[in-house]
Amino acid sequence: MNKIELNGMSLNELKALMIDIGEKSYRGQQVFTYFNRNNNLDIDSLIQLPKDLRKKISDLSFVNELKIYKRFDSRVDRTSKYLFQLRDDNIIESVFMQYKHGNTACISTQIGCRMGCKFCASTKEGLIRNLTPAEMLNQIYMMEKDTGEVISNVVLMGSGEPLDNYDNVLKFINIIHDENGHNISLRNITLSTCGIIPKIYELSKENLPITLSVSLHSPFDSERAKIMPIAKKYNISELIKACRFYERSTNRRLTFEYTLIENINDTKADLEELSRILKGFNSHVNIIPLNPIKEYDKERPIRDHVKKFQIELLKRNIPATIRREMGSDISASCGQLRRSITKV
Ligand code: SAH
Repeated sequence: MNKIELNGMSLNELKALMIDIGEKSYRGQQVFTYFNRNNNLDIDSLIQLPKDLRKKISDLSFVNELKIYKRFDSRVDRTSKYLFQLRDDNIIESVFMQYKHGNTACISTQIGCRMGCKFCASTKEGLIRNLTPAEMLNQIYMMEKDTGEVISNVVLMGSGEPLDNYDNVLKFINIIHDENGHNISLRNITLSTCGIIPKIYELSKENLPITLSVSLHSPFDSERAKIMPIAKKYNISELIKACRFYERSTNRRLTFEYTLIENINDTKADLEELSRILKGFNSHVNIIPLNPIKEYDKERPIRDHVKKFQIELLKRNIPATIRREMGSDISASCGQLRRSITKV
C-alpha cells in the first residue's frame, strides 16, 4: 500500500482520516496546525498526540521533507535563492525576496516543465514530475525557518507550469491559505501560466481571488507560436476571452507577462496590436527583459529599449511595469540556477 503524504493533506482530509482510524476529528486539526502553523515536521515530537496514535499515523503515512542543498545570497539586494533536494534526490529551485511591503517566496510547481517555451531554462529537459502539495508548502516553510522571516506573498513563478499540475497546486493554495495554518491571503498569491485555456476557466470557477498572471510574450499568434508551443494549441483571441472571464468571475486585475526580446517582440506593430487586444481590460503588462540562456541565442534588450516599450504602452493607456530584477548576481530567472547545478 502506498503511504499517504501526511503534510500535504488539507484540514478536512486530516479530520476525515482521524475519523477513519477511529479517532476524534480534532486530532486532525492538531496535526494540521503542527505542520502548517508551527512549522514542525517531526511527528514523533507532537506530544499532544498519544504515542499509540503517533504510531498508527506513521504506519499509514509519511512526512515529506526537503533538504537545503545550497543557498545563494545576493550581495546587491535582500534576495536568496535556494536549491532544495527532494526525497528522490531531484533538485528544485525557490527564491526568497525581501521587499519593504513584506517577504515574497517564488516557488516551483514541477520538476522541469513540458511547455517548451524557447527562452526558458526550466523546460529544456522536459517534465520530470509534478511536485506534491507538501513539496510546494515546504519550499515556503523551509525558507521561513532558514531566514527566521515570515513570508506573506507567494508567486508560483518558479519552474513548472502550475495549471499543468492543477490538483496539487489547488490543494497547496487551500492549505497555505487556511486560517488554521499559515493563513496567507489569497490576494497575496499569484499564479503564472503560459495560458492553458480550459484550466483558466476551471480556475475561474474555484472562487479564489488569487492574482492570475498570463505569459503573453507576443500579441500575434504566429510569433507567439514560435516562442511558446502552447500557442499552437490555443490562440490569442480565445486566451483573451478566457482572461476576461477570469476577470469577471473573480473581480481581480490580471497581469500579462511580456518577456521582451530584442528584434522579436519589441516592434511598433507589437505595441499597436498589444494595446489593441488589451484595451479596456482591468490588467497591466509586466515587462520582463529577456534573461538570455545558452539554448536561445537572442539578446536582452538594453535598458533604454525596455523603458521605451513601457512608455509607448503607457501612452496607449495600457498600464505597464518593468519587472524589478532581484538577485541579479546569483543567477537569473526560472530554472537557470538548478540547471547550472544538475548539468555538471
Ligand atoms: N509556467 C509559468 C511560470 C513561468 S516563470 C508561465 O509560463 O507563466 C514566470 C515568467 O518568466 C513567465 O512569463 C516566463 O515565460 C518568464 N521567463 C522564463 N524564462 C525567462 C527568461 N529566460 N527570460 C525572461 N523571462 C523568462
